[in-house]
Amino acid sequence: MIYLDYNATTPVHENVISSMIPIYSTDYGNASNIHNVFGLRAAKHVEASRRLIAENWNVTENEIFFTSGATESINWSIKQVFRDYASKGNHIVVSKTEHKAVLSTCEYLEKNGAEITYLNVDENGHINLIELENSITDKTILVVIMWCNNETGVIQPISEIANICHNKQTLFLSDATQMVGKEKIDLQETRIDIMPFSAHKIYGPKGIGGVYMRRKNPRVMLSSFIHGGSQEKGRRAGTLNVPGIVGMAKAIDGAYAFNRSKEIKMLRDKVEKLILDQVKNADINGGGSNRIFNVSNILLPNIVAEKMVALCPNLAFSLGSACTSERKTPSHVLVEMGRSKEEAISSLRLSFGIYNRIDEAQEIVDTLVKAYNKLKS
Ligand code: PLP
Repeated sequence: MIYLDYNATTPVHENVISSMIPIYSTDYGNASNIHNVFGLRAAKHVEASRRLIAENWNVTENEIFFTSGATESINWSIKQVFRDYASKGNHIVVSKTEHKAVLSTCEYLEKNGAEITYLNVDENGHINLIELENSITDKTILVVIMWCNNETGVIQPISEIANICHNKQTLFLSDATQMVGKEKIDLQETRIDIMPFSAHKIYGPKGIGGVYMRRKNPRVMLSSFIHGGSQEKGRRAGTLNVPGIVGMAKAIDGAYAFNRSKEIKMLRDKVEKLILDQVKNADINGGGSNRIFNVSNILLPNIVAEKMVALCPNLAFSLGSACTSERKTPSHVLVEMGRSKEEAISSLRLSFGIYNRIDEAQEIVDTLVKAYNKLKS
């Protein structure tokens, strides 16, 4: 079985597993109970992990907060900006190709008095910077544009977007779930104010993530979303997932995907070339744009791509986002990029990772082409 669904989730790297074992077996204290030696040790692991993550992104450790994953980080950030900045306004700007965690949160807020502007994307999946600039008003409290799209790998011009938001004195949130661990991140150069992230897309464990919140220029001090104990400086209650936090820090610091990006890209490009050579009118969604190295969203014309899954038992891939893959509706990302409903339904996503090998290209392509020809006949 060749695993090609690394954007849905990754296996946990052996170094990450090794880093977590002592926390389960010996240093298992509750990090909130620092009056006993076990709790103190656990708290030290948490703070060392926070420092390690902060160093990787050139920020300070008091700007990093731990959550259960990117979905929670996104919900916390967007809902609390809406509540905390109500005196400034109720307007949020968001791109139409965000992850459902963002779009569903915005739909929820819209029912609760928020005004949302949804930005279009072009056929390459990019927003229009002039449209963005024009959409920001004195009532705009937040702009939300993801760094790298989970379905197509399209990378937005995040530094330019951040500059526009700063010049307009509007907070900028960028969902970096699919960017962290894949490319170098320096948050002094790229002036994102709020950045949700997750561990399980980068060879870390599931159920752990976090959010970066800038402390200076501007100071982002979102109030608590989950109430209870005083963990995370009283801003996110609940016993800390210490093994998860340690494993996530190891995964971010290890940058396993980044370190193998050349080989992964070679495999991705080879698969794409072979498919385009062998399947008439096949196309790569977002192929003309700046894309992350590990994703390929392939349009195989005039089929229902969902049927490909059963016809390729030796390949594990998905149609798009893990959250929507069971639904038979076309991908909102592809439709917004100008694909017809039929073209979107004919598309599938391969996402490669560090355990794939270049010599798998032929088997991947042979399997896909055979299945495609069967469906067409
Ligand atoms: N944002 C993006 C871009 C994603 O790809 C995902 C994962 O599907 C999420 C958010 C949600 O992440 P999590 O599974 O950590 O809640």
